[in-house]
Amino acid sequence: MNRFVIPPAAPATLAVTGSDQVFPVGRVYCIGRNYPWTAGEARPADMPGWFMKPADAVVPAQGVLAYPPETTEFCHEIELVVAIGRGGHDLDPARVEADHVWGYAAGLDLTRRDLQQHAKRVGGSWEPAKAFDRSAPCTPLVPASVCGHPRRGAVWLAVDGQDRQRADIADLLWPVGELVAMLSRSVTLMPGDLVFTGTPVGVSALQPGQVVTAGVAGIGELSMTVGARPARAADRTPTPSEEIHS
Ligand code: MN
Repeated sequence: MNRFVIPPAAPATLAVTGSDQVFPVGRVYCIGRNYPWTAGEARPADMPGWFMKPADAVVPAQGVLAYPPETTEFCHEIELVVAIGRGGHDLDPARVEADHVWGYAAGLDLTRRDLQQHAKRVGGSWEPAKAFDRSAPCTPLVPASVCGHPRRGAVWLAVDGQDRQRADIADLLWPVGELVAMLSRSVTLMPGDLVFTGTPVGVSALQPGQVVTAGVAGIGELSMTVGARPARAADRTPTPSEEIHS
């Protein structure tokens, strides 16, 4: 007998470079500020804050970058994304990469900045600013068995060919091992979890029609065109083709 009272959603997945297999996406953790904003800035004693996006916010980083509703300040954040292959809690920072990281991708932590600023002002939650539909486009995952564990390499994003964000993996205030280990003291990480490791300075608002190119050196690159602002939700009903392509 079928125990599901409605059809269960298919798992969210991420493509794997050079393979027909896919990575099943579990939880999506996003790290707050994790790059210096000024030269020589020391990292704070405490781990940066973190928040989550739903697994199905992860979509292939290609085609149209869907402009979300309820914002006039739709912002880009390029990030190195870590895919967890073996879970656990209270992980040893020195063992995280070798024992727990399956691979890496380049991802966009898309943000409705006006909603985030409002949330900061009123002490509200960040989900409306961060956890919207299609808010986490990612390039195909590169297995660590192929790319190793990157210690350096450009993390960059350009809009219409002009640099907006450019930093280096080596600039991470909390590098991958320490970051994932700290997260694992707060939650039990599971196979399939993704960790967005934070974005460099230079985030800015996107306009419909602009072309976003971005990447993490040695991991992946993307090129996407910002879609049109949606009509008011009350004025329209999505068609199946829009759900797939927009
Ligand atoms: Mn971010």
